[in-house]
This record gives sequence, C-alpha cells and structure tokens, in this order.
Amino acid sequence: MRRAIRLALVLVPTMLIVPVVARGEPVAAIVDTNLETGSRQIRQFAFDGDAETFFASKENLGVSDHFTLVFDQPVSVKSIAVVTGKPGPEGTGKLKTGVLEVSTDGTTFTELAKFADGEAREDLQAKSIRAVRIQPTADQEHPLTVREFTIASDPPVARFEYPVEIAVDCSDSPELQEWADKVARLCELWYPRLNEALKSDGYKPASYIKMRISSSYNGVAQAGGGNILGSSKFFKAHPDDVGAMIHETVHIIQHYQSRKNPGWLVEGLADYIRFFLFEPGKIGPINAKRARYDGSYRTTAAFLAYVNDKYDQSLISKLNVLMREGTYKDEVFKELTGKTVQELDEEWRESLKR
Ligand SMILES: [Zn+2]
Repeated sequence: MRRAIRLALVLVPTMLIVPVVARGEPVAAIVDTNLETGSRQIRQFAFDGDAETFFASKENLGVSDHFTLVFDQPVSVKSIAVVTGKPGPEGTGKLKTGVLEVSTDGTTFTELAKFADGEAREDLQAKSIRAVRIQPTADQEHPLTVREFTIASDPPVARFEYPVEIAVDCSDSPELQEWADKVARLCELWYPRLNEALKSDGYKPASYIKMRISSSYNGVAQAGGGNILGSSKFFKAHPDDVGAMIHETVHIIQHYQSRKNPGWLVEGLADYIRFFLFEPGKIGPINAKRARYDGSYRTTAAFLAYVNDKYDQSLISKLNVLMREGTYKDEVFKELTGKTVQELDEEWRESLKR
C-alpha cells in the first residue's frame, strides 16, 4: 500500500510563517506527488540544476501516479524539458509511456508533449504556467526516476539549491502524524533560507533528514546523527512551538564536528536563526539582571543579535564558519569587533536596562 503524501501547497498556509518573496525575484516551487521516495533519492533532486542527482520512487509507477512541480504563482514559460531515467547508459527508471502536462491554474492539466526515450520537451510562446506534471499513461514495471526538470521562464522558477526531504516517523504517536507532516514541510520550505544564513565554502548540507516523534522521549527535541527527535508529549501540549523544530533543523545544518565549540554559542546561534530569521519578534523579554552572553539559547541569541547589528553584520556568518571549521575561540569577538566578549557582554546588559 502506498501512503499518500500531500505536500506543502495545501498545508503550509495554515502554518503561519512563509518566506516572503519580493517582486521580480525567482518564484519558488514545491513538488507535489503521491509517490514515496526510494533509497533517499529525494523529490527535490528532480529540480536542483544537477543532472547527476535524481528522484527515485520507492515502488513501481502506476497510471494513477503523478509527479508534479507546482510554482508559487504562474510564470511565463518559454520552454520545458524533463529527463527521466538514471544517469548512465542503462538509464533505469525511464518513463516509457507517459505525457508531460501543464496547468495554468494548478488544477486543470492539458497535455503538452509525449515522453519518448524517457524525455519530453516543448517550446511554449510565453504561456502562463502554474504547474508541470509527469503523468504515466500505463502502468510501468519499474519505479520512476526523474533526473531533471529544465524550465526557461520569466520570472525564473527557483531551483532547489539546497535539496532536502524530511521523512517523518510518527509510528509511535500517530495522533501527531498530521502535525509532524506540516512541520516537516515547513522546515523543508525554510531550508534554503536557513542554509543561506549558514553557508560556507564547499559545505553541502544533508539532503535527507529523519524526523521522529517519540512518546518515550522526555526532552523537548534534539538533533544528532542527521536525525531530529521530538517529544510527542511536549508537542501535543505545545503544537505552536514549531520554532523548536526549526532550531533542530538549524543544528542539522550547522553540522559542527568539533568538540571545542562552546555549547552556549552552538545553541545561541541556533536560537538566533530561529528568533531573528524564522520568527522575528517572538523571542520574549530578556532579564537584564540575570542575562549573560553565555547564557545559551535565547539569551545568547539576543546577545549575538546586539553584536551583529552594532558591530559586524556578518558576525553570525563568520562565527558559523569558524565553528564548522573547529577554529572558534572567544578571542574572535575581539578580532571582529575590537572588544572582548566580556566587554561586549557588559555593554549589551547595559542596553537591556534602557
Ligand atoms: Zn539545540
């Protein structure tokens, strides 16, 4: 039995915070498919600008299946090409019998081209398109492999520069399945932004993340070994605390290997991304009397925001690079701002009293 995977389009608007895209900028896309992912060959690999990576379905392709790319808004399309089948001479997983369909409204589809030798391409004269769909016209005796969608349009459709898929395991607490699916889609949606804030040369973040919701886990949430674990008890009581899962997603992206990185800064930086990028204005009051720069979590996040804004607007990015390299030491605050971390701490605490 295939489990239907309904994706972000329907679910995300109910979940508060969607990244804002300015006019003229590339239009975002999501993958909508009922096909389950096989062997970690995730959906977004089909539109990441890399023809070597590909989506692979777990099970054989049936006539009622589809694989659809949906744009946030209609774009004026000049050409579309879709290549199926694995890279290499055998090209396993090619779509043998099927069509490429397009939709102007994301609901009603019309045929654009037939697949031949696993490929379909068509020129369009600036036709307004909202969605592109791979539609088999007969059952195939193999899974589907989608190497790449190539779309020339105005404005362009943003490819998945940080392809990711978060696989939810809620077997332990099925009552949270819907909630966890929504949160996973939200974390996927934010993945590019989080990664842009924490990018460094040559670093590629994880593309496959497991998110397990457990009834026996007594913490709130944690990340480790590329996986996220959340407490069903906690999230049943605090379903709005999706920022906690963004925080854990940031830990996956941080991917710090060095044991020398101070815990207060690792946590503070994760909360900085959460409270100043994902949910600005939600950090709450910081107690001026008890606050310390190394107070970790939101306290350190507030300290980092102060120093970042006042002294060096690439501070967060630089601290991230140093911790990823394992070369962070407290002296870098002096190097970057001219003041020691203790001096900055005093100044920041003074500012809290005002
Ligand atoms: Zn943490």
